[in-house]
Amino acid sequence: MTFSIPRDKVTEIKNSVDILEIISETVILRKAGRNYQGLCPFHAEKTPSFTVNPGKQIFHCFGCGEGGDVIGYVMKREGMSFPEALRSVAKRGGIEVPSVELSAAEQQRLGERERLFSVNRLALQYFESNLRGSAGKGARDYLNKRGLARETIDQFNIGFAAEGWDLLARFLRLKKVPSQLGERAGLLRPRKQQTGYYDLFRNRIIFPIFDSGSRVIGFGGRVMDASLPKYLNSPETPVYNKKSSLYGLHAARAESRAAEVIHVVEGYLDLLALHQNGIRNAVATLGTSLSMEHVRIIKGLIGTAGQVILVFDSDNAGIKAAERSVEVFSKGFVDARILVLPKGHDPDSFLLAFGADAFREAASGALSIIAFLMTTAIRRHGLSTEGKVRIVRELEGTLAAVEDGIARALHMRELSERIGVEEAAIMERVKAAGAGRAAGGQRPPGERMQGTSADQKRFPPMGAHRRMERRIIAMMLQFPTILPKVREAGLLDSFEDEGLKRIGERILMALGGDTGVGGASVAEILTGLGETDLERTAVSLAIGDDPWDREGCEKLIRQFVENRKVNDRKLLQRIRSAEEAGDHDLVMRLQMQLLKEKKALAHSK
Ligand SMILES: [Zn+2]
Repeated sequence: MTFSIPRDKVTEIKNSVDILEIISETVILRKAGRNYQGLCPFHAEKTPSFTVNPGKQIFHCFGCGEGGDVIGYVMKREGMSFPEALRSVAKRGGIEVPSVELSAAEQQRLGERERLFSVNRLALQYFESNLRGSAGKGARDYLNKRGLARETIDQFNIGFAAEGWDLLARFLRLKKVPSQLGERAGLLRPRKQQTGYYDLFRNRIIFPIFDSGSRVIGFGGRVMDASLPKYLNSPETPVYNKKSSLYGLHAARAESRAAEVIHVVEGYLDLLALHQNGIRNAVATLGTSLSMEHVRIIKGLIGTAGQVILVFDSDNAGIKAAERSVEVFSKGFVDARILVLPKGHDPDSFLLAFGADAFREAASGALSIIAFLMTTAIRRHGLSTEGKVRIVRELEGTLAAVEDGIARALHMRELSERIGVEEAAIMERVKAAGAGRAAGGQRPPGERMQGTSADQKRFPPMGAHRRMERRIIAMMLQFPTILPKVREAGLLDSFEDEGLKRIGERILMALGGDTGVGGASVAEILTGLGETDLERTAVSLAIGDDPWDREGCEKLIRQFVENRKVNDRKLLQRIRSAEEAGDHDLVMRLQMQLLKEKKALAHSK
């Protein structure tokens, strides 16, 4: 990807912030040698394989292979494009980003998300002014009746879509927004019979949905009477993905991080009621069950020791959600609890009746997902023989889904004690359920990717030569004093792996004859690569903490050159046998290769 901000500027932006500080906002890091380690925010793991090297300003995960510099991290974490992430990091570093002229094609590709954000922003302003205007009288009364304070309405930018078929469509046209763009943002729909567009949201209270960076990604609309559907949400767009969005996230960050607890409720109004009562560490799902992606985002906020409290207004809703989410929480190694409010109460009415302290108190006594499922199963089925059979049948799948073997064993013992069924019998059922799950394409519990073995899994088995090429690049990145020697010996000329060769050339170009190489230079090398795969490879090789010294380096270089000579001998043999077989094409190709090798070898002498 070519990007029109000059490389120097990109490097300056990267150097203006500290990757350690930025990653520490979402990942708890501990010092390990020259590096820092923590649990990867991009995949579920129990043992830290996510590594940050502050000296080189890079990160790499040995578990899932993610890696890069601070821009790459922000892109991945926030789901941003490169220019968006660059701008966001520049803002933190206090650096002015020159506005650049992008080509039409670049604008097309890079600008779509930004255009959608700006249409959403316009629509938000439109909905807000509707609510304040004369058309919004009924909506204001409704919100008032629901007990929403003016500050809450302002803070969450609540708005109103007035009655009418194409009010927003007309407003956007007035603002010179192409209707197709309004359609791609999920706000407009093309008319079926005639030309033109109509509004998706009509006569509804509007709840804008923000990402963690407070950009508008979508909208939810609620009717004010009994008409259906009660709720209508924006369809998914390039900026709005329900599986990774949470309502209220932008307002919940600070307090969730401080409390290491987050409440998850089901609806917009529940969330607003919590906020209004001072319980700001809360988010709402957007009509989907909690996904792995949600759990990752939540874990980033509350840390690995944090607690998630899922709030429901009935046992049944709680049971359904608990059964659905036990696996994602268990895989994400997050302590999740279920709080069911007393009969007849939703968070809103509960807070109104009993206040925030009572809510906090109830939340602190919430049962873990498994304990909750056990308790409700026992309550429903009773402890007759029949009932016990039903209880075990109901819980076997859930227990099998518990990732951690020890936790699973403890749960089985607890169940055995509570219902008076032998542990061995329960274990057998759970095992069978687990086998069924594994056969159904699930990853068997306990198997996880970690450390260097996962690294090997990611990179297909490679020949000794390629392995040596990787060692050379690692050496160049970690012991740059050796670079003049690498250049002198022309090592890169005989690299088989084109990607590694490009990385090597980039290192020589960026670091040149300069021997006093600081950490920032690695960021500069990455800037020049411009390809995610190459960046990841370079980062994985740079992050190592191997003790390089001159002697070790020179030995590696000698080995590499020696290897090449052996290769030449093999080549000669192959040429000879190709000649004997009369395969002229092959002879030609091998001779070309030999010539190339010879040149490289001559270079190294
Ligand atoms: Zn990872």
